[in-house]
Amino acid sequence: MATENQNPLSTDAPGHAMPHAAHPITELSEEELLFRDTLRQFAQDEIAPLVRRMDEEQHIDEGLLRKLIELGLMGIEIPEEFGGGGGTFFDAVLAVETISEVDPAIGLLVDVQNTLVAKALLRWGTTEQKQKYLTRLAAETVGAYALSEAGAGSDAFALQTRAERRGNGYALNGRKVWISNAKEAGIFIVFATVDPGAGYKGITAFLIEKGTPGFTVGRKEDKLGIRASSTCELILDDCTVPAAQVLGDVGKGYKIAIETLNEGRIGIGAQMLGLAEGALKHAVQHAKERKQFGRPIAEFQAMRFQLAEMATEIEAARLMVYNAARLRDAGRDFRKEAAMCKYVASKAAEHVASLAVEVFGGAGFVKDAPVEKLYRDAKIGTIYEGTSFMQLATIAKLVLGGE
Ligand SMILES: Cc1cc2nc3c(=O)[nH]c(=O)nc-3n(C[C@H](O)[C@H](O)[C@H](O)COP(=O)(O)OP(=O)(O)OC[C@H]3O[C@@H](n4cnc5c(N)ncnc54)[C@H](O)[C@@H]3O)c2cc1C
Repeated sequence: MATENQNPLSTDAPGHAMPHAAHPITELSEEELLFRDTLRQFAQDEIAPLVRRMDEEQHIDEGLLRKLIELGLMGIEIPEEFGGGGGTFFDAVLAVETISEVDPAIGLLVDVQNTLVAKALLRWGTTEQKQKYLTRLAAETVGAYALSEAGAGSDAFALQTRAERRGNGYALNGRKVWISNAKEAGIFIVFATVDPGAGYKGITAFLIEKGTPGFTVGRKEDKLGIRASSTCELILDDCTVPAAQVLGDVGKGYKIAIETLNEGRIGIGAQMLGLAEGALKHAVQHAKERKQFGRPIAEFQAMRFQLAEMATEIEAARLMVYNAARLRDAGRDFRKEAAMCKYVASKAAEHVASLAVEVFGGAGFVKDAPVEKLYRDAKIGTIYEGTSFMQLATIAKLVLGGE
């Protein structure tokens, strides 16, 4: 006769030990909770009052940048020996999400620094490069990641920037476009080809410091959204760097680009997730306060369903973003989940921000409302670090059994 606790799947069953207890993906550990709550407070106290001005002026407040560095947000995964926080990839994702609830432009600054620039150095940097650049990234310097060119967007490996061997180094010539953080950055990872005839196998990553002769940050774009984040052109005019500035192996830049962008797109998923959460918070608060027909609009079923739909889309995105990040930290294959989470989170952000504007009615269509900015900011999620079609192309390849 069956007795209590004899279900073989029960962790309480006598003599039964599960390999690991099932753990809700969205449940945060004590450390993660503390980190998230600290960041939430910081975002409310230090970022929120600056959001509108930074958006209008298309500029990141220098004092805020210093505070982000002091709080350790610009070196989350950088090991303590280099002055970083020694955190996990999930911590970086949590930071991008939490900051983006308040300002996705600052979310992007933190994202590029942690998930692309520090990440590439951690993975492919020599001991000397790590010592020199990770310490600077953690303590004082912003990093930028320069792959795109006018003729090389979705087809990133069609890049034309040339790196010619010259003496003990390389001379770089070409132009990069759309480079985030370029105005603030002191360190740039620049992709160039050492051999245009070799196709993607000529692509090589270089570490270039601001101020290197022949290297100029050019025109800044005037954008629809994330306007505080600088997006600039880079001009390389016989910019000569020693061979020690090559990151990883010569001809292996394509691998660095693919692998960092696989992780980076989880960061963009987190940025879009945070944005949608921010929009929902504003919408809920407004729906409770705004009265029409003698009642708060939150009491009308149509409004309630709209808020429920927003919350549901956010939950789906959260599960996917957190799962992709935790797969990455567990050392599992996360490529498909990364592309999927960016695809879903960016769609959710666009839809949720759009509905949030509607919840506000006319008040959502003007600059006084925080949702107006979030609506503009949401559009970028389907474009950078691979457009939505490029995410679908990656997902399809993996679903169909390609590498
Ligand atoms: C604000 C901002 C910040 C950015 N930051 C950076 C950065 O820091 N570093 C960096 O290197 N780059 C950056 N980028 C560049 C960004 O990654 C590219 O804009 C993006 O990859 C798309 O390339 P594209 O703009 O050339 O569009 P295109 O490649 O020209 O795409 C145009 C349209 O064609 C579609 N398309 C293209 N090829 C295919 C295909 N094979 N199948 C189906 N559809 C296709 C695309 O999905 C898209 O809808 C940034 C861009 C912006 C706007």
